[in-house]
Amino acid sequence: VINGDKMLQKERKTLPIYHYREQVLRAVQENQVVVIVGETGSGKTTQIPQYLHEAGYTKHGKVGCTQPRRVAAISVAARVSREMGVKLGHEVGYSIRFEDCTSEKTVLKYMTDGMVLREMLSDPKLESYSVLMVDEAHERTLSTDILLGIFKDLVRLRSDLKLLISSATLDAEKFSTYFNFAPILRVPGRRYPVEIHYTKAPESNYIDAAIVTTLEIHATQASGDILVFLTGQEEIETVEEILKERIRKLGTKIGELIVCPVYANLPTELQAKIFVPTPDGARKVVLATNIAETLLTIDGIKYVVDSGYSKMKWYNPKTGMESLLVYPISKASAMQRAGRSGRTGPGKCFRLYTINSYQEDMEDNTVPEIQRTNLANVILILKNLGIDDLLNFDFLDSPPQELLRKALELLYALGALNQVGELTKVGRQMAEFPLDPMLSKMIVASDKFKCSNEIITIAALLSVGNSVFYRPKNKKFLADNARMNFYQGDSGDHIALLNVYNSWKENDYSKQWCYDNFIQFRSMKHARDIRDQLTCLVERVGIELTSSLCNLEAMKKAIISGFLLHTARLQKNGSYWTVKHPQKVHVHPSSGLAQVPKRWVIYHELVLTTKEYMRQVTELKPEWLFEIAPHYYMLKDVEDLRKKMPRVA
Ligand code: ADP
Ligand code: MG
Repeated sequence: VINGDKMLQKERKTLPIYHYREQVLRAVQENQVVVIVGETGSGKTTQIPQYLHEAGYTKHGKVGCTQPRRVAAISVAARVSREMGVKLGHEVGYSIRFEDCTSEKTVLKYMTDGMVLREMLSDPKLESYSVLMVDEAHERTLSTDILLGIFKDLVRLRSDLKLLISSATLDAEKFSTYFNFAPILRVPGRRYPVEIHYTKAPESNYIDAAIVTTLEIHATQASGDILVFLTGQEEIETVEEILKERIRKLGTKIGELIVCPVYANLPTELQAKIFVPTPDGARKVVLATNIAETLLTIDGIKYVVDSGYSKMKWYNPKTGMESLLVYPISKASAMQRAGRSGRTGPGKCFRLYTINSYQEDMEDNTVPEIQRTNLANVILILKNLGIDDLLNFDFLDSPPQELLRKALELLYALGALNQVGELTKVGRQMAEFPLDPMLSKMIVASDKFKCSNEIITIAALLSVGNSVFYRPKNKKFLADNARMNFYQGDSGDHIALLNVYNSWKENDYSKQWCYDNFIQFRSMKHARDIRDQLTCLVERVGIELTSSLCNLEAMKKAIISGFLLHTARLQKNGSYWTVKHPQKVHVHPSSGLAQVPKRWVIYHELVLTTKEYMRQVTELKPEWLFEIAPHYYMLKDVEDLRKKMPRVA
């Protein structure tokens, strides 16, 4: 029953895709696989699932629509539920990692591509779905590429299943060819001319340039909202702060400027703000990461400011390091960004780079994630789905052999695969956790060391990212002092996280307590949710919930079981060498071990700022490695290591 808001129903009919409704339905009826191409904002994501529902495809199964990002899944599901006049989580729902907002009633389900892979672990043929729509396929995330490969087989096994691949860019032939020349349906979008401006000389600092350009547009250009492409949350927050300050200084000389940030981890309440229409006389400036490139459509944008960069995950198989790098975007991305300004009328795009740099330095297309990321996680899932022959898996674009080999090696070191590459019991248990394999292994290992209760807390806190402590600019000293209260001597950063959580719990999960201790309440709440879910999963895989709060060594051993390839050894000069792939690194200044050098440490992650830093560090005794991973660390290895490594003072 469709009885959404009248206004919204009217709006639905103004979308470009509306004129193609019958064509879309006919194509789906006549073909098992259909590729749909339409510009961002034409209505693919919000409308096609509703058309399929209206046409009866949800009578015998759900329509599942995959999204590459969490924020897109939530925002689109919210929008569609409003259009249909139903409560979010009832007929229309979403499912993202650690958050399932669906019910028995749900017929339209938006979910991250990674969640579909997880869902296949319990429902390998996805039998509860009648239609699957792989949306935003042009994003080419790792999970999307893997899903495409799996679905290619699945449509052969399930003749009743309909598959739609939707893309915002023109590379549809590639998808069509891959699916045995599936028909392509093109939905022309509205498009107005976009005037493109380049800088005359390269900008030394694109953040400054973005601020100046935004203020200039605001001061000199006709009304219309501004969309600024930046690379990440911190950068967006900095720009937000500076913009607000400068606007305040300018006072009434200048019209109102409403600043709205958008990035992947933005809380849902704040996300809604970007869709609120701008009041008369004011101007909105949306500060966004590349999720506003194609995944989110914001109406009313007339000006785009393009920094020319985005953050990209790059995994270096030689060193085994994954880093989130600020990386120049591709020409295809630059075109998409510019296009955001021309949806409702002629637009202008201000590129903060030179025309020469656009023509000469930028790649044509973004490298698909499968060719630049750590594959351990998906390999674990694929092995669990019984897909063993990865070398002959029919990838849309194959990952480099070296990436495959590295991932297999990591899984072997973690004990998830045996010597011939078969999944072990540990590997099967690990696959149950929607976490990075190193974190999953840490949890699985906690069973042996009788400290699962503590380890799932630590895993939950590590999963919320680096956002537990906060450090206001004017209170750095107080914040750092408060933080040190959570360290017991040299017990390390992991144990400190555990102490934060336990103290918070003792204080009835209080918000005030967080405030007093410079802890982010929101991150803690999120960690608590994750922890609850991990508790269920731990029970499901048959790990007993046990505590050994006083046994630091047991906890450290469990942590190291997951992070044994992240070992580093102290050098004479106070820096460290990573052991697996020798590289010079340092303990991050925020770590409790920054002032207390240890001969051997493990780290959670490396971050490259001014130097290569290890974040979340815990001491390791090398002899533990033989107890933890005897199959991987033979005594001889360590002897070799000792010879190769410069001697420690
Ligand atoms: P596509 O998938 O083709 O890029 P969408 O279906 O996402 O297009 O969006 C169609 C239109 O729906 C957008 O132009 C926008 O006006 C509106 N819309 C989408 N999501 C939201 C939202 N969360 N809030 C308000 N409007 C939205
Ligand atoms: Mg879309």
